Amino acid sequence: MSDSDRQYIRAAGIYDPDVGGMDGTVLEFSDGTVCAVRDDVPQNGELVFDTEGYVLPGLVDAHSHASIRPGEGDQIAQMRADPAEQAVRAAHNLRADLDAGVTTMRLMAAERYIDVTLARLEREGELDAPRLLPSGVHLTPTGGHGKALTATDGPEQVRDRVRTNYDRGAHHSKYFATGGVSSDAGGLDTPNYTREEVETIVAESHRLGLHVATHAHGGPGATQAIDCGVDTIEHAATLGPAAIDALDGGDQFVVGTFSILMNPEGIEKGDADSHAIMENVRDARETVRETWTSLVDRDIPLALGTDSMHGNLYEEMQLLREFGASTDQAIRAATSDAARAAHIDHRAGTLTRGKSADVVVVADDPHETFETLADPVAVFKRGVRQ
Ligand SMILES: [Zn+2]
Repeated sequence: MSDSDRQYIRAAGIYDPDVGGMDGTVLEFSDGTVCAVRDDVPQNGELVFDTEGYVLPGLVDAHSHASIRPGEGDQIAQMRADPAEQAVRAAHNLRADLDAGVTTMRLMAAERYIDVTLARLEREGELDAPRLLPSGVHLTPTGGHGKALTATDGPEQVRDRVRTNYDRGAHHSKYFATGGVSSDAGGLDTPNYTREEVETIVAESHRLGLHVATHAHGGPGATQAIDCGVDTIEHAATLGPAAIDALDGGDQFVVGTFSILMNPEGIEKGDADSHAIMENVRDARETVRETWTSLVDRDIPLALGTDSMHGNLYEEMQLLREFGASTDQAIRAATSDAARAAHIDHRAGTLTRGKSADVVVVADDPHETFETLADPVAVFKRGVRQ
């Protein structure tokens, strides 16, 4: 890269989540990649944005689904919907995420490889969306939570599914270790798979260089996942002391998705007619606060996702603070730590040299006014204003 290609964003401060403070005032980038953080714009340098606000790394949503809208109910049926319909809905949803400052998103389940196609369309500039990291078809057994069209049973089938996902372009594997809040298939603590099946998913994914994300709320299902060496535990609404002990001191991440559960516009609105689902919501609301206060207190690696509550990553950060996280920890969970959890920290999550020039500009210093994160002034992805 030559000096003449360089572009600059000047702000009151450039926030480094790993430092937990402002570091420099000018971001220098070229061809969508960060060159340096500095304190001046060179003469004749191309200043593309000049603001009295503050610059943060673009936000990373570590857990979402492109086409789902929880407030409309029956999320499993939404995954079965016609692919064209899902694509159009995804385009609207992902635009809202981008406007909220999300420039990278790890996707967590899809049928017919819709997520892989959306990720390609984003890369080709055809779709206004965060950079998408697809899972391909998620793994869940016959009768398991999350089953929309595809059930995958037994060690042979799970191995085949991981290989096929890899071949189609999946960035990671996603399997359902326990039941979920938004269906009545299995309890929040019950294992979906045998140990042999889980060991096969983890071994085959790791052999291919894919990390493993696991939908797991608590009990033996979560403990089995942790023991078998999964990389991220998703949701964890009912994680008990034994599971938290097993995580302590390790590098497995727990990914919080709170607003789908806590916000009245989430599952509560979409599935009000289902007695079983509303019972799950009430139970999980009681335990999530206790679980997450303990996870924060024990310093377990944490990240955040919206789980399809498009545009709501700010609310996830705010809730993590309510559970005891500091402002810096809450921001890390949606930037640098989320990038680590999603295995994209070589490209996203901070604004150091060589990373993608993904930027969210906010009006105030989030240390002073945390609410400023709810309403970005500008968003850049790969150095381009969105
Ligand atoms: Zn999800």
